[in-house]
Amino acid sequence: MRIPVVLITTLLVASLATAHEKPDKNTTLIVNLIVDPEIREKFDRESEFVSYLNELLSRASLIFNAEIGRHFELGSIKIGTRAKDRYKTEEPEFFMSWLRRQDDGRGRFVIFFTNTAFFDRDHARLLGGYSDPNGNRLLLVEYAFETQRVAMVILHHIGHLCGAGHSEDPPSIMSRTRNNSISFKEHKEVIQKNCGKKN
Ligand SMILES: [Zn+2]
Repeated sequence: MRIPVVLITTLLVASLATAHEKPDKNTTLIVNLIVDPEIREKFDRESEFVSYLNELLSRASLIFNAEIGRHFELGSIKIGTRAKDRYKTEEPEFFMSWLRRQDDGRGRFVIFFTNTAFFDRDHARLLGGYSDPNGNRLLLVEYAFETQRVAMVILHHIGHLCGAGHSEDPPSIMSRTRNNSISFKEHKEVIQKNCGKKN
């Protein structure tokens, strides 16, 4: 009888340690951020900057979890390269190739958070984001002070990375134009299939 007791104790300790150290991969999607230094400079304190980013991700996570059943968790925050030194803002594909070179393959999604507006052919500048057309991990998102607005841009582009196209009607997160919807509507199923919980 002693062996099973030891075994159960070991398993319990092991699972508690895992739960404490690592988020549950089945319910959590890790989102890593590469942030334009100009965005960091908008905040006086490091703590304000980090809480802005946390609020952003938790707003997006709240909606994604309600719709798809998975949370986002902020993984790493890296300060990237100053915009004017390295990338041309009128060309999202240029950002994207820059971002691909920096991708270390960690986390489920990598957001490059830019302070500079770029020409967005997809959305006629209404949404302020761009997702990698040749992959399922990388997205570019423009900074705005309003976290709710940026969170919706993140959700729209993560929707694309999870296989969703655009909605025409009714308004949804996947519409080309900004609206008040907090639902993926008809794209819920495809997003669940590609980015939802694995059973
Ligand atoms: Zn779109």
